[in-house]
Amino acid sequence: MYKTDFKDYICRPLCMFFAEDEKEEMACLGARAAARLYENGSIGPGEIRNIIKDREVWEKHRADLGHVLCRACEFCAEDCDFQSPEPSGDLEPCGGYILLAHLIEQNAISIKDVEKVI
Ligand code: SF4
Ligand code: SF4
Repeated sequence: MYKTDFKDYICRPLCMFFAEDEKEEMACLGARAAARLYENGSIGPGEIRNIIKDREVWEKHRADLGHVLCRACEFCAEDCDFQSPEPSGDLEPCGGYILLAHLIEQNAISIKDVEKVI
């Protein structure tokens, strides 16, 4: 699935870093992993549509998704401060992370499912 596809269901509705007219050369690993789970049928459009962003949910999964996902993400070193030791209070993770955190919380997927597509 090309970035323009998952832009519609991950980046635009969920990601604070998304800018309509900005062309990103590369998608973050959070978005790519979520797109791979969509492609392999682990998640479907219905589950995605029901996501309402909740800080408590993504904070709860900071350690497990940090270990499996963010640690391997090319954006972690320079572009994304979410997993830095002292992130600013209003900082959010990327849309892909948010989607995965909510789906894990709902038991729609497991952290092992995420691990398999990294
Ligand atoms: S950081 Fe990831 S989820 Fe956010 S706009 Fe870029 S590719 Fe999409
Ligand atoms: S929260 Fe940041 S480091 Fe983690 S997957 Fe998203 S962009 Fe990458």
